[in-house]
Amino acid sequence: NHFFDLVRSRLPADPAGRLFLETPEGLRWSYADLVAASGRYAAALAGLGVRPGDRVAVQVEKSPAVIALYLGCVRAGAVFLPLNTAYTPAEIAYFLGDAEPALFVCDPARAGELRSVASSAGVAQVGTLDAAGEGTLAAEAAGQTGDFADVARAGDDLAAILYTSGTTGRSKGAMLTHDNLASNALTLVAYWRFTADDVLIHALPVFHTHGLFVATNTVLMAGAAMIFLPRLDAPLILSLMGRASALMGVPTFYTRLLKEPGLTREAARGMRLFVSGSAPLLAETHRAWQDRTGHPILERYGMTETNMSTSNPYDGDRVAGTVGFPLPGVSLRVVDPESGEPLGTDAVGMIEVRGPNVFKGYWRMPEKTAAEFKADGFFITGDLGKVDARGYVHIVGRGKDLIITGGYNVYPKEVEAEIDGLPGVLESAVIGLAHRDFGEGVTAVVVPRGDARPSEAEILGALQARLAKFKLPKRVLFVDELPRNTMGKVQKNLLRDAHKDLYG
Ligand code: ATP
Ligand code: MG
Repeated sequence: NHFFDLVRSRLPADPAGRLFLETPEGLRWSYADLVAASGRYAAALAGLGVRPGDRVAVQVEKSPAVIALYLGCVRAGAVFLPLNTAYTPAEIAYFLGDAEPALFVCDPARAGELRSVASSAGVAQVGTLDAAGEGTLAAEAAGQTGDFADVARAGDDLAAILYTSGTTGRSKGAMLTHDNLASNALTLVAYWRFTADDVLIHALPVFHTHGLFVATNTVLMAGAAMIFLPRLDAPLILSLMGRASALMGVPTFYTRLLKEPGLTREAARGMRLFVSGSAPLLAETHRAWQDRTGHPILERYGMTETNMSTSNPYDGDRVAGTVGFPLPGVSLRVVDPESGEPLGTDAVGMIEVRGPNVFKGYWRMPEKTAAEFKADGFFITGDLGKVDARGYVHIVGRGKDLIITGGYNVYPKEVEAEIDGLPGVLESAVIGLAHRDFGEGVTAVVVPRGDARPSEAEILGALQARLAKFKLPKRVLFVDELPRNTMGKVQKNLLRDAHKDLYG
């Protein structure tokens, strides 16, 4: 078993004596507990008829049992397929129909309605698991012995299918192999200097690559420990910093924590690493964090499809507004989206990556998979960016968010950066809306800061001196907050839908 053999080979010498995970409620799992619990889940799955290669779809609240179930799936040779807890029964129906899992695991509180969804989708078995780690599947596992004989799996076999966040359209199932997970985890342990002495504050969801793979697999491969929180709770995270060494979060974690008066150098003294990703971290947040805590946040870039591709350095400058260098073993290039020709320093184009981190393809979408890979194996990320003279990668935004107005390309991030720098502005999102004369009209959606609300005319006036005319927004709209999904990503598609008729 490619992945779990690696986990075994990196277990602490004294697994029963080393903490893997603890919760604020006082639950403590040693590494020996984790191996036994995952073995019981693996045996339970096999007992329910889950065979190697079968998908196990899971929509449950975050709990340590989910980690045991994830590793149990991998050990049983099955494919772990976690689903966002926010998905409605109608959405679950789509995912179950697409993935055709042998087993669907859901929260007992929703089992009534989801059982019929599952049976309509042809799913043979439904089990339950709640936030306390109880339910029919948990009971099944509790009746097993922990000494499961892992099913043999090669590096190229699937370990998981993760659906993308659905920020730009319908979520796609990314097929991730044992080696995708193993190689990226080892890379991150080394690059971010994780050791058995680390204690990670884990407050991310475990249905997404960030919380499931980046955070959990890195801890696992380092023999480190984590404090497992059900969700983002800024005061609680702050109070735990004295006992921890690292935090991984989306940008919202850092903006929320910055609102805590108790966030000081003293409070963060024992911490060695703050990592941000999944959405762009504002340069302002990076600076504010460094001022308050003395720590430069380490920003990295990845996708469900590629695991982590770039990272700011551990030693050396962590440059605000950049995502650092390609990780060891990862090749990254920026190409002209039309011709496919590689571009030079500072030129903006499509980011493509290749390496052991890159997924095997989209589940049951062979045409889409073929379209997103180049003949030489590079994956077209869909993100626009550039590499600067020092080799730092900058993400400029998504290809789908690029605005073409009157034949000119406008990169929303450039306009957003100018707007965000104006007094009275907290943040902004710049989108393109259908426009009779220009094709698309550049449109700014602005969140004011405090009560000193600037007017549309003031913002446009201030931008005139800073941006070429074709980049200037035609309209500025004001909102109290930007729509964000659970991973802190701004949902520009919702903004575009809401204002699609603005220009008539
Ligand atoms: P979908 O593919 O379904 O539209 P999604 O791309 O948001 O959704 P994820 O795989 O969760 O789904 O997110 C990957 C994307 O997140 C990247 O392609 C990139 O646009 C963005 N991203 C991740 N990290 C960063 C970062 N540090 N800075 C800027 N963008 C980032
Ligand atoms: Mg994507």
